Amino acid sequence: MRAPRGTELTARSWQTEAPLRMLMNNLDPENAERPDDLVVYGGTGRAVRSWEAYDAIVACLRDLADDETLLVQSGKPVGVMRTSTWAPRVLIANSNLVGDWATWEEFRRLEDLGLTMYGQMTAGSWIYIGTQGILQGTHLTFAAIADARFDGTLAGTITVTAGLGGMGGAQPLAVTMNGGVALCVEVDPARIERRIEHGYLDRRADSLDDALALCVEARDARRPLSVGLVGNAAEVLPELVARGFVPDVVTDQTSAHDPLAYLPAGVPFAEWEERRTADPAGFTRAARESMAAHVGAMVALMDAGAEVFDYGNSIRDEALKGGFDRAFDFPGFVPAYLRPLFCEGMGPFRWAALSGDPADVAATDRAVRELFPREESPAYERLHRWLDMAGERVHFQGLPARICWLGYGERARAGLRFNEMVASGELSAPVVIGRDHLDCGSVASPYRETESMLDGSDAIADWALLNALVNTASGATWVSIHHGGGVGIGRSIHAGQVVVADGTPLAAEKIERVLTNDPGMGVVRHVDAGYSRAVEVAEQRGVRVPLAPV
Ligand code: NAD
Repeated sequence: MRAPRGTELTARSWQTEAPLRMLMNNLDPENAERPDDLVVYGGTGRAVRSWEAYDAIVACLRDLADDETLLVQSGKPVGVMRTSTWAPRVLIANSNLVGDWATWEEFRRLEDLGLTMYGQMTAGSWIYIGTQGILQGTHLTFAAIADARFDGTLAGTITVTAGLGGMGGAQPLAVTMNGGVALCVEVDPARIERRIEHGYLDRRADSLDDALALCVEARDARRPLSVGLVGNAAEVLPELVARGFVPDVVTDQTSAHDPLAYLPAGVPFAEWEERRTADPAGFTRAARESMAAHVGAMVALMDAGAEVFDYGNSIRDEALKGGFDRAFDFPGFVPAYLRPLFCEGMGPFRWAALSGDPADVAATDRAVRELFPREESPAYERLHRWLDMAGERVHFQGLPARICWLGYGERARAGLRFNEMVASGELSAPVVIGRDHLDCGSVASPYRETESMLDGSDAIADWALLNALVNTASGATWVSIHHGGGVGIGRSIHAGQVVVADGTPLAAEKIERVLTNDPGMGVVRHVDAGYSRAVEVAEQRGVRVPLAPV
């Protein structure tokens, strides 16, 4: 599976060619963690429900007119409707369940009947760009920790984490980009090899002694290094506590949100599939008990002085269910480090070059540098540093793409510039412009993006739904509403959008509205919750909020 490259259309227009290429790109083996099972990342996050659904979606997109909209229900195409040229070409709803039924057990019952699928965030909404998609956010998170605790650098520190999957695989590079040493525990040796191959991880170790020796030596020399240790986090972290080894920073990015995607201690990796299929309920219990031991060790390391945080995988709630009652003693990464950025409408903005030509991404990188000169603000200085590092160190997976956190006002400027570049021929083909669902105004997720909101509105999901509606009304090319992404079934509702810059004046009008209103939802959401920084941003940048404090 590989998306077509170049300028020859296989659909009727770029507005339909784009979702087609991006769906295929999600399933490109360079991107997807298990492409044969249609799994892109995040445990069982799928692009579509079945191969039959895939074929039907591809056939629909090839034939879809510019005033028609394809409806996708949890990865299956269910209708084509006459709409308008301003309407999205694809509308997607994934994994949504009515509140009282929103449990993993009920979800799995329905999945086994072939009625739904788990869409994660960008898996089922066709805007996954590989591990790079989370790299900048992870880099920003570790930079915030460096600023708060270690004089602005992680040099001379050791971070311990686990999980080197599609998203977790960004952790070692994000730590070394901040100058630090990362010890990453992963049960699957193939994942370790994949991250080494893609330049995200430096070394592999097969024993804790070897891993610690490598890490300590690099830390003492203040040399960045990342080491992938083949092992189970539920065994390795308690062992660190037993040895009295206290890392500087501790987190985790195993697929803890889904207990069937977390390997319990004592279960050989080779028996994982067989054991979870044979007895899902027993496996879930064992996984939760292991997570209780894993989080118990994280809390012990916190008590001993380490900086400890939850990295958005719901491991605290699973550990609580597994019987560890101090699981919520450490915070999630959004309230701890990222919320001030959300107040400015910032988030994981991204784009991908449909040409397949890396030169197109290099040209957009240059355009972003010109639009936001480094001398103008410390934030732009950081943005330039990110683009420099990304240009040097990011290995593209699938279509060339770039993640680049931008805020309210900035995203629209960048998008309009890209559209001009397509029109003028500076770019060899159109680009798609989207974002992760993990954004400032598109998600309700009380264990992650909306944890500890100032006004206690953590579980209010109206914002995510308004986000999807406003993107639909503003001219996005495809819009999605998902449930359960990131943190698991019952714990989140979130929306995504992608808009296509095909160089036309109509695309410019849509881009201007979508890329203004989408981050505008982030500003509005945080004004409503009472964040003074969001109130300032709304005043300075002209975001209209009827009941904003004056
Ligand atoms: P993934 O399924 O691709 O990878 C998870 C990895 O964890 C796998 O490689 C698996 O082998 C490993 N693993 C499972 N049990 C283990 C154990 N006991 N010890 C060591 N390794 C173990 O998932 P992913 O895409 O990398 O996402 C990881 C988690 O992060 C998910 O819960 C996801 O929802 C969440 N997530 C976080 C963010 C964020 O911004 N922080 C964003 C997206 C997803």
